[in-house]
Formats: sequence, C-alpha cells, structure tokens
Amino acid sequence: MSDAPDVDELTPPQRTLMGPGPSDVHPRVLRAMSTPLVGHLDPSFIDIMNEVQELLRYTFRTDNQWTIPVSGTGSASMEAAIGNLVEPGDTMLVPTNGYFGGRMKSMAERAGGEVVEVEAPWGEPLDPADVQAAFDEHQPDIFGFVHAETSTGVLQPNVPELTDIAHSHDAYVVADTVTSLGGVEFRADEWDVDVAYSGPQKCLSCPPGASPLTLNDRAMDKVLSREELTRSWYLDLSLLEGYWGDDRSYHHTAPITNVYALREALRLVAEEGIEERWDRHLRVAGALKSGVEAMGLEMNAADDYWLPSLNAVRVPDGADDGEVISYLLEQYDLEIASGLGDLDGDIFRIGCMGHSANPKNVTYLLASLADALD
Ligand code: PLP
Repeated sequence: MSDAPDVDELTPPQRTLMGPGPSDVHPRVLRAMSTPLVGHLDPSFIDIMNEVQELLRYTFRTDNQWTIPVSGTGSASMEAAIGNLVEPGDTMLVPTNGYFGGRMKSMAERAGGEVVEVEAPWGEPLDPADVQAAFDEHQPDIFGFVHAETSTGVLQPNVPELTDIAHSHDAYVVADTVTSLGGVEFRADEWDVDVAYSGPQKCLSCPPGASPLTLNDRAMDKVLSREELTRSWYLDLSLLEGYWGDDRSYHHTAPITNVYALREALRLVAEEGIEERWDRHLRVAGALKSGVEAMGLEMNAADDYWLPSLNAVRVPDGADDGEVISYLLEQYDLEIASGLGDLDGDIFRIGCMGHSANPKNVTYLLASLADALD
C-alpha cells in the first residue's frame, strides 16, 4: 500500500467565469453553502424544500404543483423529464440544430422511444413551418426543443406557436431551459409548456448539483399512469413524489448544501424581480455584443435570435481559438470556451449569465479579448 497522499489545502484560482457555465457564484450563495447541515427529513429542511419549490415556480413563471430541484446536474433534470415522459412505443420529435437536441435524442432512445427529427442548421432556430410538417408526417407523442442552445448561441423564438402546433396534435412539449432560466424571458404557463427543465449553474449563478424541473398536471398524469416502470430508479418521478409531494418520505438523501445554494440563488432572483433580471441580461449582454462587433468580430447567430446569455462569436481569420482561450485563462484568469460539435474551432462561446452579467465583467472581457487577439 502507498503512503497517505500529501495533498495541499484547497486553493482554487480566482477566475472570472464568462464561459458557457458555470457562471460566477454570488457571495451570498457561497455563504449559504457554508451553513450547518440538517437532515433531509428535518422539519426545518421540509420548510426549506417548500420555499425552494415556491421560488422555482416564480422563476419558471408557473403554478405547477410539480416543481422540484432534481438531485444532480442539468442532465439529471433533463433525463428525469425525458425518461419519465417517454414510454416504450412513444415517438419523440427532437431538433437537429445543436448539441443538446442530440442529447435529447439519446435520452429518448434509452427510454425506449422512437425518435424523429425536425431539421435546422446549427446556428439557426427551428422554423414553426418545419415543426408543423414534422408533426403532420410523424404524429409524435412528445416534442422537445432547446429554448437556449448553448452550443450555437441561438434563442428559439415563437415558443407559443410551437406549443400550439404540438397541442393541436395532442403531444406533450418538453423545453430545455438550462441556459435561459432566470436570464432570458421564459413563461412556462403562459406559453403552455408541459415540462421544462434547467440547471442551476448558468443564469441562476449557483453551483451545479440541484437542477430545476417543472411538469404540469397533464404531463404528470401521463407519468403516473405509465404501464412500464421508468428505467431509472433514481429519477423515477412517481417515487420522487413521495419525497417532494405531500408525504415528505425518504427516497434518497437530498444534496442539502446544494438545496441551500439554490434557495439563496432563487431568493436573489426574487429580490431583483424576474423581469428586471431578464432586462439586465439584455442590457449587459447587449453591451458585450456591441463591444465585440465594434472590434470587427461577427456574432454567430443573427440578431433576431441572438441569445443574450450565451454569445457565440465567430473566430476571426488567422486566430486560433485554443490559443486565445488559453491566453485569457493564463493572463487574465478569465474563462471563455470554444465551439462544440459542428461549430468546434469556428466560434468562441462567451457567457453572460446571472451574477457574471455585469458591466464590470463585460469591460474586462472586451479589454482582455482585444489584447488576446492583438
Ligand atoms: N442542456 C443545455 C442546453 C446545456 O447547456 C447543458 C449544459 O451545458 C445541459 C443540457 C446539461 O447540463 P449539465 O452539464 O449540467 O448536466
């Protein structure tokens, strides 16, 4: 056996996080994470659970009773949504216009569903006419779309039009709001979205670990009347109902500290006001966009569907994206990211999310990027 490893005290670097997530965490959230642990069934924790659910409803703009933080990262709330809603034999329609539509496809297939696709190029949103045509051709039971595609910097407009098409075919709508919740206008109830999931580490500026999910009664009725058990025990919403529903009985040990963190992050959303927060993201990211355009750089997405929380900027001719990203990290402790999938090597991904979406960060980013590209 080897000796006990001699590992130093933890001293992570102080970065400015302007990548695709995580974003900078608010000091109040970090403070909440250093408060004492209580048990996951402690009466005081039950109160905290209720508060988190209430704050999540506010942030999703929904009255859905079934609104919870799923233990795990955004992919856990994503799999809870898709894995519970899709039953073997169901058909799910997914988009091809980005990396996360591809993840929806994998999850729906693993749940035993058939997958059909509605196509759009990477860097463009779905066209409602194409969604309509896909419904007419395939009659899917479930339609998934990505509201804010982190891989392309595209915001999906026309959400109510898409949900109308799906509902006129009696389908359920699942929205990925990982990069929009709390930063970009999203209205679950008014836009008639049946299921939406998100992650805490983007516009909510909270460490990953407890991920928002909401389902309306119609979707929850489908989940609770499944003929076959959900394939994941851990993410089975009919079991999680025992913990997050009226019983408050043990299912698994909730990540207490992450729930504290989410509570504080959502309290910050409520204090600011959700609409003011959407406006702030638009204002601050608008300054970032104007700044990079003034430097002669080009945005990847057209103005009509530019995503404020994730600015995809074309890598200029002659520049090497990897070198620029490393330079920013080494010289400025500033994180941005490269492209994913089809856009690998073509774009920089610059986040403007939550606590990171402030004028000081934007000024710092613009000056550092100008130096890196010089
Ligand atoms: N969906 C989108 C749009 C995302 O951007 C991400 C993560 O970046 C995910 C899903 C998955 O979230 P996580 O990486 O937290 O599991």
